[in-house]
Amino acid sequence: MKVNLISDTITLPSPGMLDAMYAAKVGDDVFKEDPSVNALEEKVAKLFGKENALFFPSGTMANQTAIKLHTQPGEQLICDHYSHIFNYEGGGISFNSGVSCNLIEGDRGRINAEQVASKINPPDFYHSPLSTLVCLENTTNKGGGAYYEVSEIEAIRSVCNKHNLGLHLDGARLWNAMIATGQKPEIFGSLFDTISICFSKGLGAPVGSALLGSNEDIEKAIRIRKIFGGGMRQAGFLAEAASYAIDNHWEHLSEDHRKASELKDCLETLNYIQRVEPVDTNIVIFKLIDSIEENDFIKKLDALGIRFISMGQGKLRMVTHRDYSQLQHEYVLDIIKALKF
Ligand SMILES: *Cc1c(COP(=O)(O)O)cnc(C)c1O
Repeated sequence: MKVNLISDTITLPSPGMLDAMYAAKVGDDVFKEDPSVNALEEKVAKLFGKENALFFPSGTMANQTAIKLHTQPGEQLICDHYSHIFNYEGGGISFNSGVSCNLIEGDRGRINAEQVASKINPPDFYHSPLSTLVCLENTTNKGGGAYYEVSEIEAIRSVCNKHNLGLHLDGARLWNAMIATGQKPEIFGSLFDTISICFSKGLGAPVGSALLGSNEDIEKAIRIRKIFGGGMRQAGFLAEAASYAIDNHWEHLSEDHRKASELKDCLETLNYIQRVEPVDTNIVIFKLIDSIEENDFIKKLDALGIRFISMGQGKLRMVTHRDYSQLQHEYVLDIIKALKF
């Protein structure tokens, strides 16, 4: 059996999704004439209670566009030291926007209002960069799929209002947070200036993200997307896949969460595991006991058909997703239980 747990991005379109893509009505989206893209943008804007939305080829481009539209070169944004925007977007914050980061060592990738307030440079002290933006990630990627309580985001919003800072959400896995907690999309729409959401992770579309915001912000975003080279022509085939995913794949995330939680419960009982981080959604991060070489362990499981990755610093990661079947799940549980060291 082959099992791939390296990421929730490895899924293939479901048969229903392929049918929806095949039937998509398309046009030239650079002229804003693709009916499926227009419909998707309207649908997600409405879902989150935002004025407008813009379809993007990737989450990275959506985040980078948001950062560019909220900042000017020389300014500084505040985020957790685990953030995807800081660690995994190729240094785009400095390259694209000329902006630096004031990093917070938060709790599994989450930061709180007090920490944010402590990182704001006094605006009249012209020697330090002007703080203009706060970026949160929900759920956290490197933080192991942790989600925010709404009350914490409200407190951060108050700090942003008081100090005139923008607030952006990297919501690549916001779908998972909403399924795990029952939190409604409008609450996020009301608290953040801009939100990026991803269709190609847990939702299982092949490509695509969206940026949500006010009409004014999305008008700026379309120009920035152009500059970044992100205009797509008959993108409606992809937009239909995304729209289908929201309608038909979203709820399935609870299955991914159940399987991740069962992996955690199992790993915790094994004598070759030192520690398993809390599992709130679909990401399982764990550490081996010191006597086992991480690479040997990865190779050993690879030989048994099970793939996952190392995140460095001794952290191993498994991510559950919609193409990880119950049968595969039972196989993985059996294999890891039977391993001897
Ligand atoms: C995957 C991811 C992104 C970016 O997604 P791409 O579509 O791969 O560019 C952004 N933020 C987080 C938290 C992610 O996990």
